[in-house]
Amino acid sequence: MKTALTASLLLTPLEQILQPLLVMEDGRIVQVGSRAEAEVPADARVLDFPDAVLAPGFIDIHIHGGAGHDVMHASATELESFERFLAASGVTSYFPTTITAPLDAIFVALERLASAIETVPQRARTGDLRAQPLGIHLEGPFISHAKRGVHPAEHLQAPDLQVFDRLWQAARGQVSFMTVAPELPKSEYLIAEASRRGVCVSLGHSDSTLAQVETAIAAGARHATHTFNAMRALDHREPGILGAVLADDRLTADVIADGIHLHPEIVSLFLRAKGPDRAVLISDAISASGMGDGRYRLGGLDVEVRGQRCEYEGRLAGSVLTLDRAVRNVIEFAGWDLRGAVRLATLNPARVAGVAGRKGVIASGADADIVVLTSRGEVIRTFVGGA
Ligand SMILES: [Zn+2]
Repeated sequence: MKTALTASLLLTPLEQILQPLLVMEDGRIVQVGSRAEAEVPADARVLDFPDAVLAPGFIDIHIHGGAGHDVMHASATELESFERFLAASGVTSYFPTTITAPLDAIFVALERLASAIETVPQRARTGDLRAQPLGIHLEGPFISHAKRGVHPAEHLQAPDLQVFDRLWQAARGQVSFMTVAPELPKSEYLIAEASRRGVCVSLGHSDSTLAQVETAIAAGARHATHTFNAMRALDHREPGILGAVLADDRLTADVIADGIHLHPEIVSLFLRAKGPDRAVLISDAISASGMGDGRYRLGGLDVEVRGQRCEYEGRLAGSVLTLDRAVRNVIEFAGWDLRGAVRLATLNPARVAGVAGRKGVIASGADADIVVLTSRGEVIRTFVGGA
């Protein structure tokens, strides 16, 4: 059955189409254009969203949990309720993110998450409105003691190809991202091997120098994790990792644009540095997202949440940010328009994750993952695989 969506604007997001008509069938987008140039197919059910904006569904490449559930512990049913919560904030694809823990605990989490990822092709047609996990993000254990944030020091690991392979096997190859600190000894071998297996190696939780980042890029690293947070501060004589992330066009980079992890002016500075092609929005959200104040789980930690702040032993421990709010914050903090802001949560993360073409765009042949927004970026409705 065909479904036709009409609205006042559509963001592909590289192009904008006024008075658009979008037709989807069997989970795919089959037609996109302006209503002036195309007829609504006679056999289509029409959903009209007057004054609304159609955009690709949001993609979160760094998220630990939400709706009370932590991705490292959630059962299959708990993951489902988390994924419904994500869809309500416009997220149609996500990359569940582990934190540093005893290796056995990470292995168990990876096996469970791999199973969830493997069921995505079958569930795409069930009509269940849930965000889809597309791959795992390993945040740690190969990160720096100096910039570990709340990752437990006793479980950090030195780069080790055998340990990496055990993580890879536990995840049955479903690893899409790995955050690595490039100053750790022999990290270049780990970065090269992970990149060879198709993992996007993201630099972060790091105290590295500019030269160490150069080596990591040569080995295959191509992204940076929550820029500014858990990174050596910028020094004008030794630019370090942050100088490289901001200035080097070979790196894409993400930020937590909640106004707490970074001052709004720094979000604006980051966006000037990385520009519309290379900046990515992440939530870094934890299980507390969508809940109220209280104590919540993040991996093996017990995190205190008050208002928008999540803290563990006085350090920021993830966020309660949702990606739709991050998009609105980019508009508010940096004066970007909706199209530019939407791109940072759709096309750009899709490219970094290697799923562009299928996800993160509105185009004929792409998956029918759509978010319907107000002109200010509030979510009205979400479609995942046309449902
Ligand atoms: Zn982190």
